[in-house]
Amino acid sequence: MDTRPYMQDSAAEEFFSRLERGEFQTTRCSGCGKIHYPPHVVCPSCLGEDMEWVDLPRDGTLLAFTQQSDAIRCRMPDVLGLVELEGIGNVITRIDAPLEDLCIGMKVTFDTWTSHDGVALHQFRPL
Ligand SMILES: [Zn+2]
Repeated sequence: MDTRPYMQDSAAEEFFSRLERGEFQTTRCSGCGKIHYPPHVVCPSCLGEDMEWVDLPRDGTLLAFTQQSDAIRCRMPDVLGLVELEGIGNVITRIDAPLEDLCIGMKVTFDTWTSHDGVALHQFRPL
């Protein structure tokens, strides 16, 4: 049984393959130079199809967080956060820290983790 996350397109599939190797990357349009997260097969800005993979920032700022008590893929309870990646945008991600150790505006850094069903996913933890 394929337990990988739902893949919207080949860019999403490549994103998760790169995560398995510890790479945190997205696509940049070779035509207009814009970087988009999540990655795209076609540039949403200019509709160009020549995309290249570039590194995302590994450090970010925690904008919001919560604890979920019911989830399919995560162990419960699990902490989720909204992390700002400077110059890129925001990513919703697992946060590897207890809720009581977090505060809005704190710096966090990228890491990977493997879900109980063997899927490599991203997470952030406090610096
Ligand atoms: Zn473009």
